[in-house]
Amino acid sequence: MKTFYIETFGCQMNAHDSEKVVGTLVQEGYNQVNDEAEAGLILYNTCSIRDKAEQKVFHRLNEYKKLQGEGKRFAVIGCVAQQEGTKIFEKAPYVSLVAGSSSYRNLPEMLERLEAGETRITGLDDRQTDQTFDTEFTARTNPHRGYITIIEGCDKFCSYCVVPYTRGKERSRTSASVLAEAQRIAQLGFTEIQVLGQNVNSYRDPSGRRTFAELLVAIGEVNGIERVRFTTSHPRDFTKDIVDAIDATPALCDHVHLPVQSGSTDVLRAMQREYTRDWYLERIQWTKDAKRDISLTSDIIVGFPGETGRDFEDTITLLEIVGYDAIYGFKYSPRPNTPAIHMVDSIAEEVKIQRLAILNARQRDIQRVNYGRHLEQTLTVMVEHAANSRGQITGRSTQNKTVNFTCDTTPAIGSYVDVRITQVFPNSLVGEAISVPIAPSAALLAQQALNARVTVLG
Ligand code: SF4
Repeated sequence: MKTFYIETFGCQMNAHDSEKVVGTLVQEGYNQVNDEAEAGLILYNTCSIRDKAEQKVFHRLNEYKKLQGEGKRFAVIGCVAQQEGTKIFEKAPYVSLVAGSSSYRNLPEMLERLEAGETRITGLDDRQTDQTFDTEFTARTNPHRGYITIIEGCDKFCSYCVVPYTRGKERSRTSASVLAEAQRIAQLGFTEIQVLGQNVNSYRDPSGRRTFAELLVAIGEVNGIERVRFTTSHPRDFTKDIVDAIDATPALCDHVHLPVQSGSTDVLRAMQREYTRDWYLERIQWTKDAKRDISLTSDIIVGFPGETGRDFEDTITLLEIVGYDAIYGFKYSPRPNTPAIHMVDSIAEEVKIQRLAILNARQRDIQRVNYGRHLEQTLTVMVEHAANSRGQITGRSTQNKTVNFTCDTTPAIGSYVDVRITQVFPNSLVGEAISVPIAPSAALLAQQALNARVTVLG
C-alpha cells in the first residue's frame, strides 16, 4: 500500500495547497497516515515568510533523518523548497523531491518518477507559468469551510517579501472554473467558502467575464452558500465595488482584511507598497460608509529599516483612526533574496520589541472598545469546535469574531446558532444560544466523516 504523511506550515494558502496535494496523492492511489513512522512518503510543505524559516526547515529535516529506512522517501515542497532549491539535496541527501508551488500541477508526473526510483526530482523552474494548480481532487479537510484559490503568485514585489520569488507571477483561474468549484463545495454540504489569493483582489478573470467583486457576488449566489470570506486583499487593488458587493450580497461576510503594513507614507514608499497613508485611509472610509458593519483587520510591520519615531507614531495614529478589530503585528526581519536585505537593518532589536509591545497594547485597548459594542447583541454564529472543558462551544460571527457560548443541545460543527452576547473580552465574545441550532446538511456530515476516516485510517 502506498502511504504518505504531510506536515504543513504557514499561511492559509499553504494549508489549502496541502489539501490539493493530498487530493492529488489520494487520486494517485496513496493513503494518508497520521504517523510519519508509518508513511512511505513524507512531505513537508514549507513556508519562508518568518524569520529563520530555512534553519527551521533543515532542523526539522534533520529530525526526519532518523526515520530513513527501506523504501522511505522524503519530499520538501512549498516556499522554502523554491527558495533553497537543490541546496536541500546537499544538506539533506535523503530528500528525493524538491518542488515549489508553481510546479504542483506536475505532481502526478513527479510522483511517477519518484516511484520509479529517481532520487533528485525538482519542480523549481516554472515560476513564470500562466497555469494554476487547478484540480478537482481536493481533500476538504476543514470540517466547516471550503477553500478556493482563485489567484496564485504575486506581482507586487514589496521590498521585504519573498513571495514573488517563491510563488511566481500572478495567475488567475477563469471565473467559470472558480464557480464550478464553488458548486462542488456546496454539493458536498459546505455552507461557507473562503476565497484565497496572496492578493485575492488582484484577480483578473482570464476569460474577461467577471471582475473580482462580480465573482464574489456570483459565489455568494451559489445555492446553499451562506457565507463567503476572502483573504488577503491588497490596498492597491481594493476598489469601491468590493464594498458595494458586500452591501448588496447577504452571503458576503462583514469582514475585510486589508494589510496596511505601516501608517507612514515614507515607510510605505521604502516598502514599495505603492500607496500612501491617505490613499489607504480613503479605502477605509469606503468600508466605514457601507450600509453593513464591516469589520477591518490588518497586518503591520514595525522596525522597518529607517522607521523613525515619527513614522511609528503615524502607525499608531492610523490604528486609532481605523479602529481595527484585530491586527497581526510583526517585527521586521530581513528575508533572503528581497530588495530590503540590502538596506541597513537600522532599528535595534530592543526598539523593535518595544514598538511591537506599544502597538499591541494600543490595539488591545481599541479591541476592548470594539468588542464591548457587542454586549447584549444577538449574533449568528457558525459552530467551528465542539464544547471545550468549560462546556463552551466555539464559533465565528460574520465579522470573523470568535464567540464561545453555551447551548442546551450539542450543535454539530458547521451548524448556525443565534447567540446572545453576555460577556466581552478584547479577543473574544461569550454568550448563550437563543435559537435551536440549524444543523448542517447530511452531505456535510458525511463529508466530515469521510475526512475523519482518511486521516485515521490512512
Ligand atoms: S503584496 Fe507584497 S507582501 Fe503581499 S505577497 Fe506580494 S510582495 Fe508579499
